[in-house]
Amino acid sequence: MIVALCGGVGGSKLVVGLYKTLPPDSLTVVVNTADDLKLWGLNISPDLDTVSYTLAGIARRDVGWGIEDDTFHALEMLARFGLPAWFRVGDRDLATDIFRTHELRRGRTLSAITADICSALAVRAHVVPMTDSSVSTRLLVDSQWLNFQDYFVRRRHSDPVDAVQYGGIEHASPAPSVVDSITQAECIVLVNSNPVLSILPILAVPGLREAIAHASCPRVAVSPIVGTDAVTGPAGELMRLLGHPSSATGVAEAYQGLIDGLIIDVQDRIQERAIRDRGLAVLCTDTLMRNEQDRVRLASEAIGFARSLS
Ligand code: GDP
Repeated sequence: MIVALCGGVGGSKLVVGLYKTLPPDSLTVVVNTADDLKLWGLNISPDLDTVSYTLAGIARRDVGWGIEDDTFHALEMLARFGLPAWFRVGDRDLATDIFRTHELRRGRTLSAITADICSALAVRAHVVPMTDSSVSTRLLVDSQWLNFQDYFVRRRHSDPVDAVQYGGIEHASPAPSVVDSITQAECIVLVNSNPVLSILPILAVPGLREAIAHASCPRVAVSPIVGTDAVTGPAGELMRLLGHPSSATGVAEAYQGLIDGLIIDVQDRIQERAIRDRGLAVLCTDTLMRNEQDRVRLASEAIGFARSLS
């Protein structure tokens, strides 16, 4: 079993490559849920849905989130009723949120519901939320704590951030099977998701950092930073906020003690030595996933690299 830790759109690119490279039921994806939100009375789990839709082959090809060819009639009506419509949820996507909310209200857990969603979408990978508890990333902007989607979607992550917190994390526990999957994994891949907004919340769930730190299998990460900035989004700025440089070396620093190897882009070859000096193995390759072929190639290189470390 290979375990991947993943956020949303960016990380799903590599996860779908892993899914296509491995026997389908030998992949477990532990997904960030600190971006989850409650809107219009519905429980929305954007990263879980992005991973599930991507693995099912139904994610929107242009943006990576939502469902291909979805319509937005429900959202248009909600806007006519005066409800906020800045968080874009298509009609089919909304059905997932209705199902999730309905089942949660019946007392079922997010992990059990996610398994049902994956099964209905014929996704054979094990897609698991990091926790069944509620955790909410908040960002301090202009002396005001913003909810994650308010910062990321409504304000288009354009504001300088002064601090990040994962609200409720101290009361969270890993979803069932997450620790066992990590303990029994053949290798663990921290995919190229945003370290601060996607991977660190997973690691902050009590018990998960320790489980990965003590895992006996090889653990590798793919750098989301190429050159001096993230390929997409605010990862670079947020890395600096945590005191790490916005570079592949900064990623090595942020994951110190949790990984044995780091995959960096060919453009960052000059940093290879500094990262090796931190005790990590390095694979220097083309990490830009422009198309399906790139995703599968990088995924199989990541697995080969991890296996070479065992
Ligand atoms: P998102 O914020 O919903 O896209 O979710 P994630 O946290 O999973 O992914 C965001 C991260 O993916 C960003 O920090 C990007 O730099 C990174 N990323 C996106 N595309 C690529 C790519 O093709 N290669 C690499 N190495 N990183 C990428």
